[in-house]
Amino acid sequence: MKKINTFMYGVVLSSMLLVGCAGPEELGAATNAASVCTGGTDLSEIPANYLTALEKYTTTNSEYIVYVCTEDTNGDGDADYMVVETTNQPEHESVYFDESNHHHEAFDYETNTHKYDAVYDGTQRLGSAGGNMIEELVLVMKMPITPVAATNKTDTPYATIGLAINGVSFFNENAAPGDEITEELFTFDQCSGHPQQQGVYHYHVDPVCLIRDLAGDVTAVEKTVDGTTYNWLEDSGNNASLLIGFLVDGFPVYGPVGSSEQDCTGASINASTIDAYNGHSHCTAEFEDGIYHYHVKTAEIGGSGESVFWITNAQYYGVPGVMGG
Ligand SMILES: [Zn+2]
Ligand SMILES: [Zn+2]
Repeated sequence: MKKINTFMYGVVLSSMLLVGCAGPEELGAATNAASVCTGGTDLSEIPANYLTALEKYTTTNSEYIVYVCTEDTNGDGDADYMVVETTNQPEHESVYFDESNHHHEAFDYETNTHKYDAVYDGTQRLGSAGGNMIEELVLVMKMPITPVAATNKTDTPYATIGLAINGVSFFNENAAPGDEITEELFTFDQCSGHPQQQGVYHYHVDPVCLIRDLAGDVTAVEKTVDGTTYNWLEDSGNNASLLIGFLVDGFPVYGPVGSSEQDCTGASINASTIDAYNGHSHCTAEFEDGIYHYHVKTAEIGGSGESVFWITNAQYYGVPGVMGG
């Protein structure tokens, strides 16, 4: 396992011209931003209440770079942003890794017709969109040093809206007008992610392999249809206290609220407290004083009515920082 020590700039530019278009949803991602964490990880200016959570970015992905640092944008001596900088490569299997990568693993896209059978209507196209593959990028997420609720909410873009704790992009549950997210489900790999045409690998839905790798609760499903056996992972619905990442507004994302959720003291949390942004406030293992946090949406709670666990919503709860720049 080799740690890559230098970021690559501009490497995807040429490949952008070579691969096909995967739909309007894929248009907006900022890629290959200027590095901010030039000295690697530096947690010295990270606010104390964020330290435990943000350290997880530096320990989860042991193979590909994920740095955490801060930026003093206006030069007044105080940090303005908490920064997560990543090459956006998942440390788990994917059919979208080049075959030369040891994480490359074959996948039968037919599996998705069973995994997402509640939304499969027989018309969706299965498999890779335009030959897109996972690329090594430089993505920089700048979260406000003091995250706050927004008075006027901002729409999330059809691009990277946050980073999973392994440094991989979160996209929202929506496709741009003219595209259907329920089509894109059927291009997902075995870990419920896929790359867009600039090679930005991303999760629109619950990242089941990451949850497995974080020692969360997943179920291995096996189904045999017409003599062919399909295998996939599903969220068991017990990962409400599992930190899986942050959105660019600085608020953390936890796993889906299943039949029950407990706060950091073991007290039961009433799921009806989940708001229109699919979040609420209480204490968690990482934020003992309490914090607003998102949960992955389920069909039952704050969801779309479909049995798919979407990452989150059309709007940020907080004031977003800067993604990519
Ligand atoms: Zn997508
Ligand atoms: Zn909660």
